[in-house]
Amino acid sequence: MDVDVGDVAQQAYTGGLPEWTEVESLVEAAYRRCRSESGGVVADYIPVLAQADPDWFAVCVAEVDGSVHAAGDAGIEFSIQSISKAFVYALVCESLGHDAVADRIGVNNTGLPFNSVIAIELNDGHPMNPMVNAGAIATTALVPGATSVERWSAIESGLSEFAGRPLQVDETVYQSEAQTNQRNRAIARLLESYGRIDLDPLEVVDVYTRQCSLRVTATDLAVMGATLADGGVNPVTGRRVVSAGVCRDTLAILASTGAYERSGEWLFEIGLPGKSGVAGGLVTIAPGKAGIGTFSPPLDPAGNSVRGQRATAYLSRVLGLNIFASQAHTLAARRKDGR
Ligand code: GLN
Repeated sequence: MDVDVGDVAQQAYTGGLPEWTEVESLVEAAYRRCRSESGGVVADYIPVLAQADPDWFAVCVAEVDGSVHAAGDAGIEFSIQSISKAFVYALVCESLGHDAVADRIGVNNTGLPFNSVIAIELNDGHPMNPMVNAGAIATTALVPGATSVERWSAIESGLSEFAGRPLQVDETVYQSEAQTNQRNRAIARLLESYGRIDLDPLEVVDVYTRQCSLRVTATDLAVMGATLADGGVNPVTGRRVVSAGVCRDTLAILASTGAYERSGEWLFEIGLPGKSGVAGGLVTIAPGKAGIGTFSPPLDPAGNSVRGQRATAYLSRVLGLNIFASQAHTLAARRKDGR
């Protein structure tokens, strides 16, 4: 993962963010620094995604106090794709609970590409990782509802609550993927053969394909991330979407699995939970502080937005977001504490 941000110093993780005007100018700086990055390739295995303009680029930060900072094409809508996996997972955790989801789906990185079939075979049919296709399809099968219409409605309204506005399906993207998703249908059939999906696998894949086709902006992603950063309350609408415990569990999964087989490099460079999608979206969460949403279609070989990773790495450093970046407790502070 090439997230070289030059000689930008890593600020330590503290209790809060810098003041509003500084965050505003650092978001603008992240956009300007990364705009001319030209690496990566736009996805084309879902035919309509190949029509994306590789120059589209947006960076957005939503703070847990509800303030939003945006730079670039923050109003352009694109399909959420794999980022939906994180939020559907949170909704399923909310209804089934910590132990049931850990047992049925698993919490480990497969170390293999997002659409791997071998990963299922190597693990006796256990999907293992809710952030790649097999685990995500198995997760969508656990969404509460008596019919696939009810399950879809729960996903559509749940993800809209995370975003704070009604999200809609991009019918062109949905049709394009529905006509070419033989591999996901095969994954669902394989899971069925191992007893890992109780419902009609093709209906589950259809709901999964719809959830991936929901249209969002970089600002939506930032607000959705900020909801996970804010103990489950959407900081813009003030409404609770999921519990604080569900946020904690979801963020732990994202830290180890959010960038597919590049998740180790992601955590090493950025030090935050995040999730990418093949249309070029990326959401990153700084617990207790903010959500970051970026959008730029060119991807690295694992399917993560190249400019998005670089802009996020920059923001993680300058805003002091890396959760592993401590600083020594000073002698003066110890004296003040009377120790
Ligand atoms: N809908 C896509 C798929 O299932 C999502 C993949 C992704 O964003 N990596 O192939």
